[in-house]
Amino acid sequence: MTTDRLYVHNALVLVTMDDARREIADGALLTEGPAVLAVGTTTELDAWIAAHPEHAPTRRIDARGCVVTPGLVNGHHHFYQTLTRSIGTGHGLALFDWLKMLYRVWAGLTPDALHDSSQVALAELLLSGATTVADHLYLYPNGCRLDDSIAAADALGVRLHATRGSMSLGESAGGLPPDSLVEREDAILAESQRLIEAWHDPEPLALRRIALAPCSPFSVSADLMRQSAALARSHRGVGLHTHLAETIDEDRFCLERFGLRPLDYAESLGWLGPDVWFAHMVHPSAEEVARLAATGAGVCHCPSSNMILASGIAPIRAMLDAGVRVGLGVDGSASNDGNHLLGEARQAMLLQRVGWPGFESRADRLSAREALALATRGGAALLGRDDIGQLTPGFAADLVAWRVDGLAHAGALGDPVAALLTCTPAPAWLTLIHGRVVVEDGQIPGLELPALIERHNGHARRLRQRAGLEG
Ligand SMILES: [Zn+2]
Repeated sequence: MTTDRLYVHNALVLVTMDDARREIADGALLTEGPAVLAVGTTTELDAWIAAHPEHAPTRRIDARGCVVTPGLVNGHHHFYQTLTRSIGTGHGLALFDWLKMLYRVWAGLTPDALHDSSQVALAELLLSGATTVADHLYLYPNGCRLDDSIAAADALGVRLHATRGSMSLGESAGGLPPDSLVEREDAILAESQRLIEAWHDPEPLALRRIALAPCSPFSVSADLMRQSAALARSHRGVGLHTHLAETIDEDRFCLERFGLRPLDYAESLGWLGPDVWFAHMVHPSAEEVARLAATGAGVCHCPSSNMILASGIAPIRAMLDAGVRVGLGVDGSASNDGNHLLGEARQAMLLQRVGWPGFESRADRLSAREALALATRGGAALLGRDDIGQLTPGFAADLVAWRVDGLAHAGALGDPVAALLTCTPAPAWLTLIHGRVVVEDGQIPGLELPALIERHNGHARRLRQRAGLEG
């Protein structure tokens, strides 16, 4: 069997995101199998290939007019929520009211709808530059399984961190979700164990990893948090993930129920450490930011969701300055309502610059390159990976070529790297994952998008009808 070697060359700029943050004009990159083999200028790599015929490319791709970056990493998502976009978000609802309204709609989720919505979310992510995606599935009605979304990612060739979410604290026990949507804790733990054994790959360049992800302080018990942590830590490379400190309402809930702030509560359960990443963390104190850094816990920033649900502005600048691992997520696309990952990096940059009471406006609080770093190196660190997020020999051959020779970037080529973030977000023109072409000429080869969208809209309509939102 021949090894694939793709030679992407003539790029206007190749942004390596390596430790020296090299940006190579007239850049080129050679893959070998799933990894990057060489990076340099097109002239350098042409000469290198001529001198090493045993590494001759099996395919050449001319990236003239493109900026090439590492593939983007999405650290937090709920694929299934593409089925309920724009419900409640148009008028505007805060997190707890929004959740209570949607739980009854999500209760109609089926395995087919879960699979198709996962493909829709992944297709939109792929076309916006994502190559590694963490998804958080925390409700399992009507026979749904995490395997349904894993199958969707497999079909599209996306690197997936599938997190086995859970809810066990129903309304009658003081939780937020209805009793009908929560699971028994012994069943959650047994299913978590099965998924780790069936799918988790701890090795370098893994395409699939599992993490355990009890949903939030207001939907699971303390005991399930403790037991999930123990189970994850009995396996190599199984991460821990949850929503934390998303809203002021959550601060209040934790103080009333546990007598602790959200981060103190997490710490009391053993949930602080380099294997943990929290979605949101909008409301940490300065001391809590320092504690996140000291313990190595990560934060996934989801700016659009935080704006739509009016959750607040996460102090990302302070976290970066303190050394917290910070990545980026689009969050579920019922609180966004999009899956555009480069667009999300732009939102992160814009939102950090805006002020609010006690937080002055500052145009230089987050630069375009820092926002791109959050979406690449930051995401890799967030997921505990040292093999993705940069274009360096030995790292995964996950990259995106973005065309900057069109209308949106006309006039911006003095700094085409910054332009990726400051101008209207571009679609991916070419994407490689694991050394394979998964987006070509702005399309996903082999995916019948119109048929998928029609099926997906059918599932979405049935969910709305079942919940009485539509006749
Ligand atoms: Zn979320």
